[in-house]
Amino acid sequence: MTAFLISFAALTAIIAVRYLLTSALIHGLVLRRPDAPETTPGAIRQELALSLASSAIYALPAALVVEAWKAGHTLIYTDASALPWIWLPLSGLIFLLIQDAHYYWVHRLMHHRRLFRWLHAGHHRSRRPTAFASFAFDLTEAALVAWVLPLLTFLIPIHVGVLLFLLIAMTATATLNHCGVEILPRRFVRGPIGGWLITATHHGMHHERMQTNFGLHFRLWDRLMGTDVMPQEPKAG
Ligand SMILES: [Zn+2]
Ligand SMILES: [Zn+2]
Repeated sequence: MTAFLISFAALTAIIAVRYLLTSALIHGLVLRRPDAPETTPGAIRQELALSLASSAIYALPAALVVEAWKAGHTLIYTDASALPWIWLPLSGLIFLLIQDAHYYWVHRLMHHRRLFRWLHAGHHRSRRPTAFASFAFDLTEAALVAWVLPLLTFLIPIHVGVLLFLLIAMTATATLNHCGVEILPRRFVRGPIGGWLITATHHGMHHERMQTNFGLHFRLWDRLMGTDVMPQEPKAG
């Protein structure tokens, strides 16, 4: 029990500090741009409060995984040659696809008019979010989402390095998707690979309209379900 509490406290701190550093960095960079979103200290304070509380919710199942891993009960492995090398990228992709599918449907459910207020209103406080909104969830939303990746570590083998890479990549994309401006090149965002990924342009539309663009990583489910909308490109000439 003591080991679990230490893991829980340490992970809460790590998750919170990771959030504070990345959001502050990206927000600071975005503020220098002429198209930076207008923000108020009050809105950022709310985003900070929700995000710090969410850190503890996310740390709970993560601490369970750390303790289970130490006891040899998860499928997280450390020897990269234990499975064929192709499994390294494949396992990462499978984790992302499962998390994305789960999030798409939970997200649509959270936008139901009877549930929105209880589950998801916190994330939508500001129409044009800032990087600080990247981890701003109602505690109920955090509880619905935080357990998915931890559960997968008991079901699907994944190398510890791949898992860490996913966590870092997710932090980066969540922060960029909420920072209020698209910093990725237009050609990539509209290109054959970027066109399947959720970026700030896509997720910004979700915060603006709230009726479309529910995906987390990929535009797959939005496209399949007819909820995928991107802003019109200005016509050349
Ligand atoms: Zn969002
Ligand atoms: Zn939403």
